[in-house]
Formats: sequence, structure tokens, C-alpha cells
Amino acid sequence: MHPLLAKAGSHARHSVARRARLFVVLICAAIAGGHLWQSMTARGVQLENNRSYSGNVAKALARHAYDVLQATDGLLLDMSDRIDSVGIAHARLVDLMPMLRRLSSEMPQLDGLYVFDEHGKRLLTSSAPPLAPANNSDRDYFIWHRDHDDVGPHVGKALLSRSTGRWIIPMSRRLNHPDGSFAGVLLATLDINHFNQLYRTVEIGKGGSIALLLRDGTLLTRMPFDPGYINRDFSQGRLFLEGLPHSPFGYLEVVSPLDARQRFLSYQAVDKYPLVLVVTLAREEALADWKQQTFVYGAAVLLLLAIIGVFGWRLVGQIELRLRAEDRALQAMGELQMANHRLEMLAHQDGLTGLANRRHLDTMLETEFKRAERSGAALALIMIDVDFFKQYNDLYGHQAGDECLRRVAGVLKERQRRPGDLAARYGGEEMAMLLPGTDAEGACAVAEKLRAGIQALELPHRGNPVGVVTVSVGVCALELLPSAARSVQALLGAADAALYEAKHEGRNQVRLAAPMKTAPSGAVS
Ligand code: GH3
Ligand code: MG
Ligand code: MG
Repeated sequence: MHPLLAKAGSHARHSVARRARLFVVLICAAIAGGHLWQSMTARGVQLENNRSYSGNVAKALARHAYDVLQATDGLLLDMSDRIDSVGIAHARLVDLMPMLRRLSSEMPQLDGLYVFDEHGKRLLTSSAPPLAPANNSDRDYFIWHRDHDDVGPHVGKALLSRSTGRWIIPMSRRLNHPDGSFAGVLLATLDINHFNQLYRTVEIGKGGSIALLLRDGTLLTRMPFDPGYINRDFSQGRLFLEGLPHSPFGYLEVVSPLDARQRFLSYQAVDKYPLVLVVTLAREEALADWKQQTFVYGAAVLLLLAIIGVFGWRLVGQIELRLRAEDRALQAMGELQMANHRLEMLAHQDGLTGLANRRHLDTMLETEFKRAERSGAALALIMIDVDFFKQYNDLYGHQAGDECLRRVAGVLKERQRRPGDLAARYGGEEMAMLLPGTDAEGACAVAEKLRAGIQALELPHRGNPVGVVTVSVGVCALELLPSAARSVQALLGAADAALYEAKHEGRNQVRLAAPMKTAPSGAVS
């Protein structure tokens, strides 16, 4: 293989190694990318699950708050009708006491039921035994009803009950005199603990929270319970600034102002009443499962990548080693072939002149003769002998003789014009030229050019009457031999004979072998 081809092959093979390495990198990247994508999808699913879970809890608890308030309000309405029918100032009002007690004990959310007159004096209570007289005219709900004509229900900020010492949410209605003027307040107190007990049963994790707030941002209760949080104002939080003004329910990601933890928050406004239910989940808890799963998967993927990476790299390394060995083998093979080729050339070449040697001429003569015989093509042979060469050696020395032969050979080389032409050193100072596809006439022309070309070298030769080196040339072509007597020997013999004749005739000339009628029996003249 030619070294250039070997080099091109080597490039192709190394690009295979490069592609294999790229392939390993791509596989690793695809696996890592797949894991990343899967992990982000799982995170999205987890967040969506949290969102819908907290949203559903908020909805259910808001519904519970609604039911509690609705039932309580129904009760207040009923009672206000009864008080109206009796008259608030009437002594029979006390007859309503047992009913108040019964209702209060039947409704678990109620801490107590109270009736206050227009001065805030407590007229009736559901407590048994009856509480000591008290005046609640300083309470927010009392002031609100006194100052507002609205006869609808009012839900106020949380209070520590003076009657029972418990945290309560006041829900009240205004009582009117028949003329519409303020007659007092009918109050139901909702036990905050009633809400807390339910909220405590809901699974929201350690960092989660459930809160019931007034629509103005006042916190009524919160689970986990801390009395310090009660009545805190959250009106400047995102829920009240961004959430509630746009939608009665929703989902926000917030930082809790209470403990600065990141939380996912779902809220649901309570129908008809000025309350909102808020459920939050701590972000790190909400994503804990996902994080753990991602961590485990991530570790497995890393392991897989490491295995693929190490094995892939080793495999590519092996491939490269093999390719390199293959390269070396191919290079050695190429060099061997080149050496063989050189050897072959040397075996065919004459060391002094660089022309083909006698052995090669014999081989080619044989080959071309057979080809010509088969195809009927022409074939000619020219024999050349340097004139007075012995004297040349004697006059100028053997080395000059060698140089002279090289110069003469140069003219022959120059005349090998066609692909099959072969100039050879026949032996000593005799040279030959084989001309396949050339007839006698053509060969004579070539021979004459050779002769003239050598004389034109003007190599001084005192031993030659011409004064320069000249040659005698004998030419023979296959067509000059009778078909039956054609052979390599006959061709050589005839050319040699023609050469002899040229010498005989005075040298420095070309002689064509005479056509033979019969088989040759010696030299032809
Ligand atoms: P003619 O004109 O009849 O050919 O005379 P000639 O002197 O050339 O006679 P011949 O062919 O007999 O002489 C051949 C001489 O060529 C003999 C030898 O000294 C010389 N010779 C043969 N081979 C070489 C060679 O390789 N180098 C040198 N320098 N001389 C050679
Ligand atoms: Mg000779
Ligand atoms: Mg000679």
C-alpha cells in the first residue's frame, strides 16, 4: 500500500475513534439529560399534588366554617325573632333562659349565648348557674352594632371571654326596638377550640399550618396554636394584597411573616361570611419526597454514568490501540512493498547506466515476441555498439569509459518514447532497444536518431576517425523474418548480424537486416 493511502486510511480510522468517543459522551449526556428532565417533571407533579391537596383541605375547612357560622346565625335569627315577640325590656325575657341553655349545649361550636341591652348590660346568658351581672358596652361587637343600623350578622375579632375565660369568636346580631332604634345585642360566642380540634386532625406536616382569618387580615386562630398569633394583622401580606382581591380561592408561594419559612399557600374565602381559610405546607417538606427520590435516582444515574464513562473510555482506548497497531502494520507493509518494488527495479536495472539489464531485456523480448506472434503486431530490435571503445578506454581510462557509456545510455533513455519501448544494456559497451509495435522502417528511423544523437554528444574520441564517440547500429524487425523461422534468437541474431555489417561497412551507421526468405543459417548481411 502506498504510504499516502495508508495515511488516508489512518485518518478514517482515527475519526472512528473520535466518533466512538463522541458516542459515549452523547449517551452519557442523554442519560443525564433524561434524568434531569424526569426529575423536573416529578417536581412539577409533586408541586401540583401539594397544590391540589392544600386546595382541597382549604375548601373543606372553609365549608366547615361556613356550616358553623350558618347554623349559629340561624340560631341568632330565631332568637332575635323570639326576643322581638317578647320585647327586650319585658320581665318574661327570663323565660328564654332555658332555651338558651339547651341550644348552647346542643351546639358544640358554641361557647355561650348572650343578650345585652342597649347599654351593654348583660340581660341573659346560657351559663348555668347564671353569671354575675356584667356590662359589655366596651366590646367591639357592641360598639359596632350600636353604631350600625345593619341587622345582618357580625363576626368580630377573637376575644378572651369574660364569661368563660376561653378564646372565642363573637358572632352577633343587632336587636331593635319596634321603632327601629338600638335595643341591644344578641351574641353567640364560637369556641376557638372547636375549630382547633378539627384543624389538629388534618395532616399538614410539621411545618404546615391552617389558619382562619377575617377578611380584613385579622388572624382568628391558627394551627399549630399559639395565643400570641391571635388577632395579628396580616392585611399587608400577599394573600390580602394580591390573592383575595382577585379571586376567592387560590394558590401562592410565600415567605411566612411568622417564622420566615418558605410556604406553599392555598386559601379559600368562606361563602357569605367575612372569613378566609388558609392552608400552608412548608416548602422543604412538600418537596422532601421528591428530593429524596431525586437523590436516590441521581446517585444511581451517576453510578451508571461512571460505569458507562469508564467502560466506554476504556473501549475507545482499546479501539485506538488496535487502530494504532493496524496503522503500524499497514505502514510496515507499505514500506515492505516499497522495498520490494525497489529491489525489483534494481533486479531489472543495470547498475552503471540505469538502463534495463540483460536479464530484463531477455524477459521482455520473450514477452513482446509472444504478444506480437499472437496479435500479428510489429516488433523491432535495435542493437548498438560503441565504435573503437577499446581505444577509448585505453586513451581516457576506464572511468571515463564508464562515463561515456552513461552518456550514450542517456540518449537511449531519452528515445524511449512509447510505453512498451525498452532500452537495455546488452553487455559491455553494447546496448539494445526493444520497440514493440514498430516495423523495420520505424525502427530504422529511431536507430538513426540514436546514432545521430550520440554523435551529437560530441564526446571527444581521438581513437575514432570522426574525432568523437560514435556508434554502429543493427536493426531487425519481425516482418523481415520468414514466419516459420521467427524466434527471439532469430531476431537477435539478425540484428547482431546487421550490426556486424555496420561495423564492417565503416562504423557510425545504421544497418537494417536483410529480409530472409528461408530459415537463417548464420549471420545475415
Ligand atoms: P569496435 O569498434 O569494433 O566495436 O571496436 P571496439 O574497441 O569497441 O571493440 P570491442 O567491441 O571488442 O571492444 C569492447 C571493449 O569495451 C572491451 C572493454 O574494454 C570495453 N568495455 C566493455 N565493457 C565496459 C565497461 O563496462 N566499461 C568500460 N570502461 N569499458 C568496457
Ligand atoms: Mg563490442
Ligand atoms: Mg565496440
